[in-house]
Amino acid sequence: KAVTHVVGQTKVIAIINQKGGVGKSTTAINLSAALGEMGKQVLLIDLDPQGNSSSGLGVEKNRVSRCIYDALLNDIPLTDIIIPDVSKGLDVVPATINLAGAEVELVSEMARENRLKDAIGPMRGRYDYVFIDCPPSLGLLTINALVAADKLLIPIQCEFYALEGVTKLLDSMKRVKSRLNPSLDIYGVLLTMSDNRTTLSRQVSDEVRRYFGKIVFETSIPRTVKLSEAPSFGQPITQYDPTGKGAQSYIDLAKEVISRG
Ligand code: ADP
Repeated sequence: KAVTHVVGQTKVIAIINQKGGVGKSTTAINLSAALGEMGKQVLLIDLDPQGNSSSGLGVEKNRVSRCIYDALLNDIPLTDIIIPDVSKGLDVVPATINLAGAEVELVSEMARENRLKDAIGPMRGRYDYVFIDCPPSLGLLTINALVAADKLLIPIQCEFYALEGVTKLLDSMKRVKSRLNPSLDIYGVLLTMSDNRTTLSRQVSDEVRRYFGKIVFETSIPRTVKLSEAPSFGQPITQYDPTGKGAQSYIDLAKEVISRG
Protein backbone atom coordinates (compact mmCIF):
# COMPACT_ATOMS: atom_id res chain seq x y z
CA LYS A 1 0.00 0.00 0.00
CA ALA A 2 1.38 3.41 -0.92
CA VAL A 3 2.22 5.60 2.01
CA THR A 4 0.29 8.80 1.44
CA HIS A 5 1.03 10.58 4.63
CA VAL A 6 4.00 10.99 6.89
CA VAL A 7 3.15 9.46 10.21
CA GLY A 8 4.53 10.57 13.53
CA GLN A 9 5.55 8.19 16.25
CA THR A 10 3.23 5.20 16.16
CA LYS A 11 1.16 4.70 19.28
CA VAL A 12 0.12 1.15 20.02
CA ILE A 13 -2.95 1.21 22.26
CA ALA A 14 -4.69 -1.88 23.64
CA ILE A 15 -8.42 -1.51 24.29
CA ILE A 16 -8.68 -3.75 27.27
CA ASN A 17 -11.02 -4.95 30.01
CA GLN A 18 -11.45 -8.62 30.83
CA LYS A 19 -15.17 -8.05 31.32
CA GLY A 20 -17.22 -8.77 28.22
CA GLY A 21 -19.83 -6.36 26.92
CA VAL A 22 -18.28 -3.15 28.22
CA GLY A 23 -17.83 -1.51 24.81
CA LYS A 24 -14.35 -2.62 23.76
CA SER A 25 -15.25 -3.55 20.17
CA THR A 26 -17.64 -0.63 19.78
CA THR A 27 -14.85 1.70 20.87
CA ALA A 28 -12.22 -0.05 18.74
CA ILE A 29 -14.37 0.32 15.62
CA ASN A 30 -15.63 3.83 16.14
CA LEU A 31 -12.56 5.48 17.61
CA SER A 32 -10.38 3.98 14.85
CA ALA A 33 -12.80 5.14 12.16
CA ALA A 34 -13.13 8.63 13.64
CA LEU A 35 -9.34 9.04 13.74
CA GLY A 36 -9.10 7.78 10.15
CA GLU A 37 -11.66 10.35 9.04
CA MET A 38 -9.58 13.03 10.75
CA GLY A 39 -6.66 12.17 8.47
CA LYS A 40 -4.79 9.72 10.67
CA GLN A 41 -3.48 6.36 9.47
CA VAL A 42 -4.92 3.70 11.71
CA LEU A 43 -4.54 -0.06 12.03
CA LEU A 44 -7.06 -2.00 14.09
CA ILE A 45 -5.97 -5.47 15.18
CA ASP A 46 -8.85 -7.68 16.21
CA LEU A 47 -7.56 -9.95 18.97
CA ASP A 48 -10.96 -11.23 20.08
CA PRO A 49 -11.88 -14.67 18.66
CA GLN A 50 -15.47 -13.45 18.31
CA GLY A 51 -14.21 -11.07 15.65
CA ASN A 52 -16.77 -8.38 16.40
CA SER A 53 -14.59 -5.49 15.39
CA SER A 54 -13.84 -7.22 12.08
CA SER A 55 -17.49 -7.88 11.25
CA GLY A 56 -18.53 -4.48 12.59
CA LEU A 57 -16.36 -2.93 9.88
CA GLY A 58 -17.91 -5.03 7.16
CA VAL A 59 -15.25 -7.74 7.04
CA GLU A 60 -16.94 -11.02 6.17
CA LYS A 61 -15.16 -13.46 8.42
CA ASN A 62 -15.97 -16.55 6.35
CA ARG A 63 -14.23 -14.92 3.37
CA VAL A 64 -11.08 -14.13 5.30
CA SER A 65 -8.25 -16.51 4.44
CA ARG A 66 -5.76 -15.35 7.05
CA CYS A 67 -6.28 -13.76 10.43
CA ILE A 68 -4.28 -12.60 13.42
CA TYR A 69 -3.89 -16.26 14.41
CA ASP A 70 -1.50 -16.71 11.46
CA ALA A 71 0.70 -13.88 12.70
CA LEU A 72 0.82 -15.29 16.23
CA LEU A 73 1.33 -18.96 15.41
CA ASN A 74 2.45 -19.25 11.78
CA ASP A 75 4.84 -16.28 11.58
CA ILE A 76 2.89 -14.72 8.71
CA PRO A 77 3.71 -10.99 8.50
CA LEU A 78 0.84 -8.61 9.25
CA THR A 79 1.27 -7.06 5.80
CA ASP A 80 0.00 -10.35 4.35
CA ILE A 81 -3.04 -10.33 6.62
CA ILE A 82 -4.08 -6.69 6.65
CA ILE A 83 -7.34 -5.80 4.92
CA PRO A 84 -6.73 -2.25 3.68
CA ASP A 85 -9.12 0.69 3.65
CA VAL A 86 -12.16 -0.78 5.37
CA SER A 87 -12.94 2.84 6.11
CA LYS A 88 -11.09 6.11 5.40
CA GLY A 89 -7.55 5.81 6.76
CA LEU A 90 -8.35 2.52 8.47
CA ASP A 91 -6.86 -0.94 7.85
CA VAL A 92 -7.85 -4.05 9.79
CA VAL A 93 -6.17 -7.26 10.86
CA PRO A 94 -9.19 -9.53 11.26
CA ALA A 95 -9.87 -12.26 13.77
CA THR A 96 -11.67 -15.47 12.94
CA ILE A 97 -12.78 -18.30 15.14
CA ASN A 98 -9.35 -19.92 14.53
CA LEU A 99 -8.05 -17.51 17.09
CA ALA A 100 -9.98 -19.33 19.82
CA GLY A 101 -7.39 -22.12 19.65
CA ALA A 102 -4.46 -19.74 20.00
CA GLU A 103 -4.90 -19.33 23.73
CA VAL A 104 -4.08 -23.03 24.22
CA GLU A 105 -1.64 -23.45 21.33
CA LEU A 106 0.53 -20.54 22.48
CA VAL A 107 1.20 -22.21 25.83
CA SER A 108 3.78 -24.59 24.38
CA GLU A 109 5.46 -22.01 22.13
CA MET A 110 8.77 -20.24 22.73
CA ALA A 111 8.53 -16.53 23.54
CA ARG A 112 4.81 -16.96 23.71
CA GLU A 113 4.18 -13.58 25.35
CA ASN A 114 6.05 -11.68 22.64
CA ARG A 115 4.31 -12.92 19.52
CA LEU A 116 2.05 -9.91 18.99
CA LYS A 117 4.78 -7.42 19.84
CA ASP A 118 7.06 -9.00 17.23
CA ALA A 119 4.29 -8.94 14.64
CA ILE A 120 3.52 -5.27 15.28
CA GLY A 121 7.19 -4.18 15.21
CA PRO A 122 7.36 -3.61 11.43
CA MET A 123 4.14 -1.55 11.58
CA ARG A 124 5.81 1.17 13.62
CA GLY A 125 6.32 4.20 11.42
CA ARG A 126 3.53 3.16 9.05
CA TYR A 127 0.58 4.12 11.16
CA ASP A 128 -0.24 6.91 13.58
CA TYR A 129 -2.25 4.54 15.76
CA VAL A 130 -2.39 0.79 16.13
CA PHE A 131 -5.34 -0.31 18.26
CA ILE A 132 -5.70 -3.81 19.66
CA ASP A 133 -9.21 -5.00 20.49
CA CYS A 134 -8.62 -7.46 23.35
CA PRO A 135 -10.59 -10.59 24.25
CA PRO A 136 -12.64 -10.71 27.46
CA SER A 137 -10.12 -12.61 29.58
CA LEU A 138 -6.69 -12.20 31.10
CA GLY A 139 -5.23 -15.17 29.23
CA LEU A 140 -2.21 -15.37 26.94
CA LEU A 141 -3.81 -13.34 24.14
CA THR A 142 -4.39 -10.47 26.53
CA ILE A 143 -0.87 -10.85 27.93
CA ASN A 144 0.39 -10.57 24.34
CA ALA A 145 -1.55 -7.31 24.02
CA LEU A 146 -0.09 -6.02 27.31
CA VAL A 147 3.42 -6.79 26.08
CA ALA A 148 2.82 -5.28 22.62
CA ALA A 149 1.08 -2.09 23.71
CA ASP A 150 2.60 1.26 24.60
CA LYS A 151 -0.52 2.23 26.53
CA LEU A 152 -3.94 0.95 27.58
CA LEU A 153 -7.38 2.33 26.93
CA ILE A 154 -9.81 0.88 29.47
CA PRO A 155 -13.53 1.15 28.68
CA ILE A 156 -15.76 0.98 31.75
CA GLN A 157 -19.47 0.49 31.43
CA CYS A 158 -21.67 2.79 33.52
CA GLU A 159 -23.39 -0.08 35.33
CA PHE A 160 -23.51 -1.77 38.71
CA TYR A 161 -20.12 -3.23 39.67
CA ALA A 162 -18.40 -1.02 37.09
CA LEU A 163 -15.06 -1.21 38.89
CA GLU A 164 -15.31 -4.91 39.64
CA GLY A 165 -12.31 -6.70 38.15
CA VAL A 166 -10.35 -3.51 37.61
CA THR A 167 -7.87 -4.38 40.37
CA LYS A 168 -7.15 -7.68 38.65
CA LEU A 169 -6.60 -5.91 35.35
CA LEU A 170 -4.26 -3.40 36.98
CA ASP A 171 -2.38 -6.27 38.66
CA SER A 172 -1.84 -7.92 35.28
CA MET A 173 -0.67 -4.60 33.89
CA LYS A 174 1.80 -4.16 36.76
CA ARG A 175 3.20 -7.66 36.38
CA VAL A 176 3.77 -7.22 32.66
CA LYS A 177 5.18 -3.75 33.26
CA SER A 178 7.76 -4.95 35.77
CA ARG A 179 8.96 -7.93 33.73
CA LEU A 180 8.31 -7.41 30.06
CA ASN A 181 7.19 -3.89 29.15
CA PRO A 182 8.52 -1.21 31.52
CA SER A 183 6.88 1.78 29.84
CA LEU A 184 3.37 0.28 29.87
CA ASP A 185 0.78 2.60 31.41
CA ILE A 186 -2.84 3.59 31.22
CA TYR A 187 -3.54 5.94 28.33
CA GLY A 188 -7.09 6.67 29.33
CA VAL A 189 -10.25 5.34 30.95
CA LEU A 190 -13.44 5.68 28.95
CA LEU A 191 -16.94 5.68 30.41
CA THR A 192 -19.27 3.82 28.06
CA MET A 193 -23.02 3.34 27.75
CA SER A 194 -23.68 6.28 30.00
CA ASP A 195 -27.09 7.76 30.48
CA ASN A 196 -26.96 11.10 32.20
CA ARG A 197 -30.64 10.93 33.06
CA THR A 198 -30.08 8.11 35.52
CA THR A 199 -28.63 8.53 38.99
CA LEU A 200 -26.79 5.22 38.69
CA SER A 201 -24.91 6.35 35.61
CA ARG A 202 -23.90 9.60 37.31
CA GLN A 203 -22.83 7.75 40.46
CA VAL A 204 -20.69 5.31 38.49
CA SER A 205 -19.15 8.15 36.55
CA ASP A 206 -18.27 9.98 39.80
CA GLU A 207 -16.88 6.80 41.34
CA VAL A 208 -14.70 6.03 38.31
CA ARG A 209 -13.45 9.62 38.17
CA ARG A 210 -12.59 9.50 41.89
CA TYR A 211 -10.75 6.20 41.44
CA PHE A 212 -8.77 7.03 38.29
CA GLY A 213 -8.56 10.83 38.42
CA LYS A 214 -7.50 12.80 35.37
CA ILE A 215 -6.83 9.83 33.12
CA VAL A 216 -10.58 9.43 32.64
CA PHE A 217 -11.52 10.96 29.30
CA GLU A 218 -13.81 13.98 29.58
CA THR A 219 -15.87 12.48 26.78
CA SER A 220 -18.15 9.66 27.81
CA ILE A 221 -20.01 7.49 25.31
CA PRO A 222 -23.80 7.60 25.64
CA ARG A 223 -25.96 4.53 25.27
CA THR A 224 -27.70 4.88 21.91
CA VAL A 225 -29.68 2.48 19.75
CA LYS A 226 -27.73 3.59 16.66
CA LEU A 227 -24.42 2.53 18.22
CA SER A 228 -25.80 -0.95 18.82
CA GLU A 229 -27.28 -1.18 15.30
CA ALA A 230 -24.28 0.04 13.31
CA PRO A 231 -22.22 -3.22 13.49
CA SER A 232 -24.94 -5.24 11.77
CA PHE A 233 -24.58 -2.87 8.81
CA GLY A 234 -20.80 -3.27 8.87
CA GLN A 235 -20.35 0.47 9.31
CA PRO A 236 -18.74 2.71 11.89
CA ILE A 237 -21.16 5.09 13.55
CA THR A 238 -19.69 8.09 11.70
CA GLN A 239 -21.04 6.53 8.48
CA TYR A 240 -24.17 4.83 9.78
CA ASP A 241 -25.50 7.82 11.68
CA PRO A 242 -23.06 10.69 11.11
CA THR A 243 -25.13 13.39 12.79
CA GLY A 244 -26.23 11.44 15.87
CA LYS A 245 -24.84 11.74 19.37
CA GLY A 246 -23.03 8.39 19.19
CA ALA A 247 -20.95 9.64 16.25
CA GLN A 248 -20.38 12.97 17.97
CA SER A 249 -19.13 11.24 21.11
CA TYR A 250 -16.56 9.16 19.21
CA ILE A 251 -15.46 12.24 17.26
CA ASP A 252 -14.99 14.08 20.57
CA LEU A 253 -13.06 11.11 21.93
CA ALA A 254 -10.82 11.05 18.83
CA LYS A 255 -10.08 14.76 19.35
CA GLU A 256 -9.17 14.07 22.98
CA VAL A 257 -6.92 11.23 21.88
CA ILE A 258 -5.15 13.49 19.37
CA SER A 259 -4.69 16.23 21.94
CA ARG A 260 -3.36 13.80 24.55
CA GLY A 261 -0.51 13.00 22.17
P1 ADP B 1 -17.07 -5.79 24.35
O1 ADP B 1 -16.22 -5.66 23.12
O2 ADP B 1 -16.43 -5.17 25.56
O3 ADP B 1 -17.54 -7.19 24.60
P2 ADP B 1 -19.12 -4.49 22.77
O4 ADP B 1 -18.50 -3.26 22.21
O5 ADP B 1 -19.23 -5.67 21.88
O6 ADP B 1 -18.39 -4.90 24.12
O7 ADP B 1 -20.54 -4.08 23.35
C1 ADP B 1 -21.41 -5.04 23.94
C2 ADP B 1 -22.81 -4.82 23.40
O8 ADP B 1 -23.28 -3.53 23.78
C3 ADP B 1 -22.90 -4.86 21.89
O9 ADP B 1 -24.12 -5.44 21.52
C4 ADP B 1 -22.84 -3.40 21.47
O10 ADP B 1 -23.50 -3.16 20.25
C5 ADP B 1 -23.55 -2.73 22.63
N1 ADP B 1 -23.03 -1.38 22.88
C6 ADP B 1 -21.76 -1.03 23.11
N2 ADP B 1 -21.66 0.30 23.32
C7 ADP B 1 -22.91 0.80 23.21
C8 ADP B 1 -23.48 2.12 23.34
N3 ADP B 1 -22.74 3.17 23.63
N4 ADP B 1 -24.82 2.24 23.17
C9 ADP B 1 -25.58 1.17 22.91
N5 ADP B 1 -25.13 -0.08 22.77
C10 ADP B 1 -23.80 -0.28 22.93
